[in-house]
Amino acid sequence: MEPQSAFYSSPVLVLDFQSLYPSVMIAYNYCYSTFLGRISNWRGTSKMGFTEYNRQEGLLRLLKDHINIAPNGMMYTKAEMRKSLLAKMLTEILETRVMVKSGMKQDKDDRTLQQLLNHRQLALKLLANVTYGYTSASFSGRMPCSEIADSIVQTGRETLERSIAYIHSVERWGAEVVYGDTDSLFVHLKGKTREQAFAIGEEIAKEITNMNPRPIKLKFEKVYHPCVLLAKKRYVGYKYESRDQVQPDFDAKGIETVRRDGTPAEQKIEEKALKLLFETADLSQVKAYFQAQCTKIMRGNVSIQDFCFAREVKLGTYSDRGPPPPGALISTRRMLDDARAEPQYGERVPYVVISGGPGARLIDRCVAPEDLLHNPHCSLDAEYYISKNLIPPLERIFNLVGANVKQWYDEMPKVHRIRRVDVVGDGIGKKKTLEAYLKSASCAVCGVKVKKERSGNVCARCARNAPASMVRLQTRLNREEDKLRGMVKICQTCAGIPPVVADVACDSKDCPVFYSRVKQATRVATERSIVSSVLRELAERGVGQEALEW
Ligand code: SF4
Repeated sequence: MEPQSAFYSSPVLVLDFQSLYPSVMIAYNYCYSTFLGRISNWRGTSKMGFTEYNRQEGLLRLLKDHINIAPNGMMYTKAEMRKSLLAKMLTEILETRVMVKSGMKQDKDDRTLQQLLNHRQLALKLLANVTYGYTSASFSGRMPCSEIADSIVQTGRETLERSIAYIHSVERWGAEVVYGDTDSLFVHLKGKTREQAFAIGEEIAKEITNMNPRPIKLKFEKVYHPCVLLAKKRYVGYKYESRDQVQPDFDAKGIETVRRDGTPAEQKIEEKALKLLFETADLSQVKAYFQAQCTKIMRGNVSIQDFCFAREVKLGTYSDRGPPPPGALISTRRMLDDARAEPQYGERVPYVVISGGPGARLIDRCVAPEDLLHNPHCSLDAEYYISKNLIPPLERIFNLVGANVKQWYDEMPKVHRIRRVDVVGDGIGKKKTLEAYLKSASCAVCGVKVKKERSGNVCARCARNAPASMVRLQTRLNREEDKLRGMVKICQTCAGIPPVVADVACDSKDCPVFYSRVKQATRVATERSIVSSVLRELAERGVGQEALEW
């Protein structure tokens, strides 16, 4: 059942059939050992898997009161005549799992034991669930019999549909099933309180469990209040697991906040925007938050780590007809420098998108984060990140509540950032960016505009007052160097490097200190070159060294 995509401000119950397929196999005794053939022949044959089933004469007459008929027209004998092999096996597995889970309730403080038991119960769950797959595995399996597999799937679906019809038929609940997926049901209780939702959820679970043969069991899992249903297996909401839970947990499935193919910034902003929506139901607050984040990105007041894409690289599997994905390209470039830099198969290689000239291809603007950090002429492509990375996922969610995220962005003032770049003393030919030209039109010391006809990078006032200008520049440089020293100190402590070694080689892309350290080192280099260039310029203008001594 496709979900009814919407924002639900009333409680939504989540109910799950526990181990539905194994339970169906046990409850209806579906197995190779209890198979009694088809009600009507298939193309004139009694096909069963890869072979034919020949029923013994008079068998049906003998068993006529003890037959289960699956929705796909297959017959199986009931458990009172013969308990199926699969059912015996699955019962044992499921009972062992219950035993292991009850063991987990003891010794809760023993983390190792808890972990061990948890892995055991997961392994048993997996075993139980793959038994269904085994009945239809025609390539890797030994006994493929799609008739049994179909019986299981169709009975599971029938169980789900019967439950939905029953929930809709009970008027006192006022419930509407808004999404059903294989073994789970999402039930919207319009206008009900959370307290009422818990009571109704327990009642629904009990009645539907009683409706079905053992061991099919509908378990009341949790209440989402509020929540957003987006599409199949994609939903997010505030989760309450018990009546006395006061603070809800943020729970998301299948959306960008939990997916690993986007950027951390996208995840954080989407999560915060959703939390604002859930807590305040006030779109103006979400809009203000979104616009504030966009301004930050445009101004460049963000951590580069938050804007790294990290997709899996599988070298050797890409077609040579189109350009390879950015991660593969970056890895290949690294391997040209050093063949040992080959990434592991499936390794996530981080990259960022930088702004480029008009018409520059996206693939050419994807660079390794350290390239961006080391190059003061490059900056993150704010427009790309906002319009391609942030807006689409937010739009998918907030369109459901009538908001137009794209319009929020269009109507806000845009910021064009002038970066501090080292252009002082550079020849014209070396200027790479527009900022380089703009920067040279302002004083390197005080930042006021320098008259066009005036050569050099220091205004007349700062040139006249050379010692004060130098103090100002030197103080600025000292401040930046202090910051860098602080970061290097953190790394020295972390990596156990003695303080006499100033260089830190660590380039851990998962560590925020790495990004701050490299960015700061680039800034210090820029400041140093500004100081030395201004010093040179002042000397050329006839300011003697003795005047600069303070
Ligand atoms: S960059 Fe991070 S991980 Fe590497 S040495 Fe510095 S603090 Fe430690």
